[in-house]
Amino acid sequence: MNPEDKIIDVKNLWVKYFTDGQEISAVNGISFSLFAGKTLGIVGETGAGKTTTALSIMQLLPKVSGKITDGEILFNNKDIVKASEADMRVIRGAMISMIFQDPMTSLNPVLTVGDQISEAIKLHMKLDKAGVEARVDEILELVGIPALRKNEYPHQFSGGMKQRVVIAIALACDPMLLLADEPTTALDVTIQSQILDMMDDLKKKLNTAIILITHDLGVVAEFCDYVAIMYAGEIVEMGTAEDIYESESHHPYTIGLFNSIPNLEVDTDRLNPIDGLMPDPAELPAGCKFHPRCPDCMEICKSEIPDEYEVSTGHKIKCHLFR
Ligand code: SF4
Repeated sequence: MNPEDKIIDVKNLWVKYFTDGQEISAVNGISFSLFAGKTLGIVGETGAGKTTTALSIMQLLPKVSGKITDGEILFNNKDIVKASEADMRVIRGAMISMIFQDPMTSLNPVLTVGDQISEAIKLHMKLDKAGVEARVDEILELVGIPALRKNEYPHQFSGGMKQRVVIAIALACDPMLLLADEPTTALDVTIQSQILDMMDDLKKKLNTAIILITHDLGVVAEFCDYVAIMYAGEIVEMGTAEDIYESESHHPYTIGLFNSIPNLEVDTDRLNPIDGLMPDPAELPAGCKFHPRCPDCMEICKSEIPDEYEVSTGHKIKCHLFR
C-alpha cells in the first residue's frame, strides 16, 4: 500500500491533563497508522489512555484541562492538531465519527431516531429535504432497521437496536474514519456479536477505516486487522492480528491479558488476573511503566525506559527482554 493512502497517521502523540496543580500523563508518545477499509483494535485496561487517544483524534479533549503537548495526528495527510475549531466542525461527523460506549446515553430521548440521524446529514451534506429523507431511509436499512421505524423514539428500541441507531448516526455522512469506543460493552453477548458482524460488513461495503477501542481481546480477534496493546499511556506491543494471536513473542503485559481470559476447556476455580493495578498517571513509575507488576522484571527495567524492538516485520514490542 502507498503510505500516501494512510487515512490516519499518529506520530509521537503526547497528551496531558492539568488538574488541581497535578500533571497527569495520559498518553505518552504513541505512534500508529491505518489505511482505508482496515481496523485497528486498541486494547488495554481502564486508564491505559485508549479513550484519550480517541478524544485527541476528534479534538474533543476537555478544553481547560486536556492538552496535546507534542506530536502530530495526520488525517488525510493534514495535521489536525493544528486545525482550527471551524475546520474541526467540518471534519467531525462528516469525515471522522465516533461511537460511544453506551447507546442509552448517546441518544436524545425526545427526538425521533430519524431526526437524530438527519441532523448530521443536514449539517454536512448538501441535500434538499427529499434527499435528506432518502439518506435517512438508506442508512437505517444499511444498519438493519426498517426505514418506516424512523419516526419512533429511542425508548421504543431494544439495546441492540439503539446501538444500531448510534452506528447509523456515525455513518450517516460516509466518514473515512470511525472511532468506536467499547461499542458493544453495554450489550449482551449475542447482540454484541450481531453488532460486530454488522460493523464488519459495513466496513467492507463503505471502505471505512475503524479504530476499535476495547478491553476485550476476544472482540479484537474476531474483528481487527491490526492490534495495539496499550499500558499506562504507551503502546507496548503492536502488530497484525496474527502477530498478537499466533506469535510466540509477546510483551509480558500482553501475556498477562491473555492469561486473564477465562478458558472454557480448563477446569479452574479462579481466574488468573495480572497482579497489582495500573499506575497512577500522575505518578508513573521510572523505567518500564509495567515493572511493578511484571513477573519478568529485571534491574534495568526499574530505571531505563525500554526501546521498541521489531521482533518480526511490523510486530513491535517495547520491552528489555527483546534487546
Ligand atoms: Fe517486564 Fe522489564 Fe519488559 Fe517491562 S521491560 S515488561 S519490566 S521485562
